[in-house]
Amino acid sequence: MDIPVRIALIPGDGVGGEVMTEALPFLDWACARGRNLETTLLPYGADHFLATGETLPESAYTSLRDGCDGILFGAVGDPRVPSGRHAEEILLRLRQGLELTVNLRPCRPTAPGQDAAIDIEVFRENTEGPYCLQGSTEPGRAVDLAIHTEPAVRRLLEAAFQRAATRSCPLTLAHKANVLKHGHGLWMRVFEELRSRHPEVSARTMHADALLCGLVQHPGAFSLIAADNYLGDLISDLCAAFIGGMGVAPSISWAPHRPFRCAVLAEPVHGSAPDIAGRGLANPVGMILSTALLFRHLGWEPEAIAMEAAVKAALESGAKTRDLGGALSTASMGASIRSRLPR
Ligand code: ATP
Repeated sequence: MDIPVRIALIPGDGVGGEVMTEALPFLDWACARGRNLETTLLPYGADHFLATGETLPESAYTSLRDGCDGILFGAVGDPRVPSGRHAEEILLRLRQGLELTVNLRPCRPTAPGQDAAIDIEVFRENTEGPYCLQGSTEPGRAVDLAIHTEPAVRRLLEAAFQRAATRSCPLTLAHKANVLKHGHGLWMRVFEELRSRHPEVSARTMHADALLCGLVQHPGAFSLIAADNYLGDLISDLCAAFIGGMGVAPSISWAPHRPFRCAVLAEPVHGSAPDIAGRGLANPVGMILSTALLFRHLGWEPEAIAMEAAVKAALESGAKTRDLGGALSTASMGASIRSRLPR
């Protein structure tokens, strides 16, 4: 018997648990099809922090780093922790500690009526930029540092160039090097170097503001967009709006320079959505499609394709949660998708 794939489950806060509940049966389904996996449920999130003072203990972090192939993550963020400390120490620790530089956020139509020409993948650097949380607030002055290092920029851009070559599609780098001369200047230099090493890829750079304008006007004109952490966050949320909003957008992050049996992190693009949490209103599609991305990363392509087809079929049949204009609960939406899976 082959070694089981080890998947850690961190539902987290708010709607995180609700959407995670709908993703778990897909793991059982994969097992029933002969995939060998074992899961570990981890309690980290606001409830655990408020009860114990622990965010992500070092021992748990080390087990995730050394003894786990994939992490399925719901969301973190809770109004009872206004500082956001636990969210930072859990999610940013995982992203930065595991060096999950590459965050892929695909954007493809999910429902009838959406622009069928849209087929965008955002490659977002996931560990640096202004999200390194360094800075200061002084009287009359506030500073946020944005740190960009060449290894991370190179890893993100190499992954994007490789993907563009595989997809045979153009690659666009979003930047503001005209004002962010140092940080985005580095991005431009590495991009130009890789462009000369990848003549097979049609690669261009665009000022991020012009790119956003172009995206809104002609989303079908973009295929693969690479960006730093901050711009990638904004661009991918805009892309989510083309396909039904935050509830349907998936993501996966990995460390391309680390060995294969090394944790990747699959999580929906959305956060913990405290405004709708606990009411069965959350759309589980982003979480389910993130699970499909995890399966694809593990080499389980047939399962990933079947799940994506099941989501599409459910949405085409009119199954919708409230964010998409429907009335289904989180659980009913999950069930509707599952009912369309092959055995
Ligand atoms: P974060 O900074 O943690 O990503 P955020 O501030 O971007 O979080 P979200 O928690 O993603 O905020 O919520 C943004 C909006 O999207 C809210 O109105 C929320 O209700 C909605 N939303 C988020 N996730 C879902 C979901 N799964 N289903 C339906 N609506 C959602």
